[in-house]
Amino acid sequence: MTDITSSSAAILAGLISSKKASSVEITTAFLDRLEKLNPKTNSYLYFNRENSLAQAKRADQQLAEGKTVSPLHGVPIAVKDNLTTTDAPTTAGSKILEGWVPQYDATVVRKLREASMPILGKTNLDEFAMGSSTEFSAYGPSKNPWDLSRIPGGSGGGSSSAIAGHLAPLAIGSDTGGSIRFPAAMTGSVGAKPTYGAVSRYGLIALASSLDQIGPVTNNVMDAAMLQDVIGGHDPHDSTSLPNGLGSMVQSVKEADVKGLKVGVVKQLSSDGFQPGVKACFDDTIEKLAAAGAEIVEVDCPSFEYAVAAYYLILPAEASSNLAKFDSVRFGLRVTPDGNPTIENVMAATREQGFGPEVKRRIILGTYALSSGYYDAYYGSAQKVRTLIQQDLAKAFTQADVLLTPTAPTTAFKIGEKVNDPLAMYLNDIATIPANLAGIPGISVPNGLASEDGLPSGVQILAPAMQDGQMYRVASIVEKLYMDQWGASLIARVPDLEAL
Ligand code: GLN
Repeated sequence: MTDITSSSAAILAGLISSKKASSVEITTAFLDRLEKLNPKTNSYLYFNRENSLAQAKRADQQLAEGKTVSPLHGVPIAVKDNLTTTDAPTTAGSKILEGWVPQYDATVVRKLREASMPILGKTNLDEFAMGSSTEFSAYGPSKNPWDLSRIPGGSGGGSSSAIAGHLAPLAIGSDTGGSIRFPAAMTGSVGAKPTYGAVSRYGLIALASSLDQIGPVTNNVMDAAMLQDVIGGHDPHDSTSLPNGLGSMVQSVKEADVKGLKVGVVKQLSSDGFQPGVKACFDDTIEKLAAAGAEIVEVDCPSFEYAVAAYYLILPAEASSNLAKFDSVRFGLRVTPDGNPTIENVMAATREQGFGPEVKRRIILGTYALSSGYYDAYYGSAQKVRTLIQQDLAKAFTQADVLLTPTAPTTAFKIGEKVNDPLAMYLNDIATIPANLAGIPGISVPNGLASEDGLPSGVQILAPAMQDGQMYRVASIVEKLYMDQWGASLIARVPDLEAL
């Protein structure tokens, strides 16, 4: 039989439905591996063998009764620890929520359970999903399986390192400014941010509500499409969730055809500022697409220059408001200071101890940007830039079906390299942020190893809002160009974690 932990989710689903392997066998294989190797990668903050196996057993029972409830029936999955789960603590990577067990499941978690997909555990993240490296997690950084001295990207580095290290066949991430796509690029995995509203945010611990979106982190494009089909769809619990009708992502992947495809290359994100090896991988992708018959056009998005600045006003503004609820009364930690423990002093002491430095930085920034007298100058201007970015993208999509950019300016950097330099950390998001500001879907697909360091590079594919199917279609075209060359997914080349 094929080696379970290095198989794609689609193959595992096939083994289960054809009864060549049970969900219990497959879930056990991943649990064995993650129990042994998680100390090396710190991908998971929490797992519980008995609980995961009980879910797998139920999935097998249903199969024995002739019931297959979803195309991923029985395939286990890892979930980012900012999604609420009633059977596991949910920390959002913060000390302020240590030990908190939510009273309800996030809609995405409920859908995974309804699809009979056993949950393997909760994955690490930068505190409240603020960061690009997982170094801001209160529970220590996750490590990149390609090189354990490097970051696996963030904020969803727990999910991306779990995928690249074969500690899970599928994972869930959240993406507010790139936290699915950037970690995917750093680890050679696939990460998709659906259109804003395509997947319910109910039960996602909010970072910036107008930017947050949940999506898949996987080995390959088909697995991501299968997972989006499971987790997507309208949810009455989330008033921003879209009506059903985006279609089947799996069907879109099956229909992939390069004929007549117009690919836009964003002028502002294809020249300066990228690591030469990353730029070379990107140029190679464009050449391959042209050789396969796609038409390549250059598109101009002048306001992208201001995207990072606008995002780092809008995000802290929304985050400072969303995090106000962590007040020592309703959730998690409570610190009672000596002397005069009034409610204000208890709140202050709890937030002082419970929040880490990046969270505090953003609360201060956001509160300042929203304060009267500065509101128009900062928050107001940032919202205007947001509109300009949306207009640039709308125009670009009249010239091309999809837009391509490198996902990240560099390959995975060393742990410690940028953690004390907030600006350097923020600049990692330069290519991913526009999609969140405009609400459009974006996916990162591996496109080779950079020549200077042999580390993975990713190409980002952006599509118009609600055209997630188009995004998956082109992602699968790009992936095929490389699969034909490599004979397997890039992740197959990750060094043997057991030997490291
Ligand atoms: N790097 C971005 C930030 O720190 C990513 C946030 C996200 O997508 N959750 O804000």
